[in-house]
Amino acid sequence: AKQSGKNKYHYYSESLHTEYMKSLNVLNGLKDALSEGFLDLYFQPQINLETNKIDSAEALLRWNRGNPYGFNPDDFIPVIESTELIHDIGAWVIQEACRACKKWHEQGHHISIAVNVSALQITRFNFYSIVEDALKESGLDANFLEIELTEHVLLTENMEVRSRLKALKDLGIKLAIDDFGTGYSNMNYLTRLRVDVLKLDKSFISEINVSKDSRVIVTAIIEMANVLGMQVIAEGVESIIQRNTLRELGCGLGQGFLWSKALPNLALLAFLDSSLKS
Ligand code: C2E
Ligand code: CA
Ligand code: CA
Ligand code: CA
Repeated sequence: AKQSGKNKYHYYSESLHTEYMKSLNVLNGLKDALSEGFLDLYFQPQINLETNKIDSAEALLRWNRGNPYGFNPDDFIPVIESTELIHDIGAWVIQEACRACKKWHEQGHHISIAVNVSALQITRFNFYSIVEDALKESGLDANFLEIELTEHVLLTENMEVRSRLKALKDLGIKLAIDDFGTGYSNMNYLTRLRVDVLKLDKSFISEINVSKDSRVIVTAIIEMANVLGMQVIAEGVESIIQRNTLRELGCGLGQGFLWSKALPNLALLAFLDSSLKS
């Protein structure tokens, strides 16, 4: 019995060791990816449905070199979030996004930049100063920066997170609710946190000309947003029919493969230049 107990202990400590080495490998791989410049920020245009002009762009993280976890952000972002490096990488995304947007302004394109921020990032004590520093360092006006959060972040009872959000709003940044309609139904936070933009989840858009339910929901969300003075953007717009329906329903903005996928910075600039000419 003694012998097997010893083996057992040996077994557990070995697997703990393996786990530890694994997480160390993940962390080192991420550190390398960041310091070696393996991470890229791509930008997907957001279109004003009335004027057909580009209003803004969403920054989307890419990791196309030295990445063992798959190129889909839905696969590798959870890996990043399982480590401390989410804070460094998240800060890099914000800095890079602000710099890029400032560049576009200098090239004559006065559009906004939308950045995805996860719940973990905003819980960090220094999140406000990360944003403030990125704005200062890039020279970007805060009015051109939009932060995309998911609904559940906004339902937080954490007073520090709430006051952090309020401070960011006071700086002048905009607040967008990502994947709107897929989360909770308690929507007090919309006015309490002075939300600026609702992003309709693409599951509604793909169904909008197929399912009456989807159309009813989208119609109701747009009407509510109008009353509350919020903008609405539809994501995942892939067809002209979807765009036309959204326009008819009074949706202000659209984003999706109909116009463009996410592009590297230079390609986005070319897209902006060509849209000026047309
Ligand atoms: P999301 O914020 O909902 O981003 C929209 C996703 O829809 C993007 O996927 C985009 O490429 C994709 N998409 C855009 N237009 C269309 C379309 O017309 N049809 C279809 N089928 N898809 C379209 P992506 O780039 O793979 O990103 C997936 C998710 O990863 C994002 O979902 C976001 O939650 C997260 N993510 C991406 N970049 C960042 C980042 O820098 N920070 C954080 N925290 N999360 C990020
Ligand atoms: Ca988003
Ligand atoms: Ca979304
Ligand atoms: Ca999503």
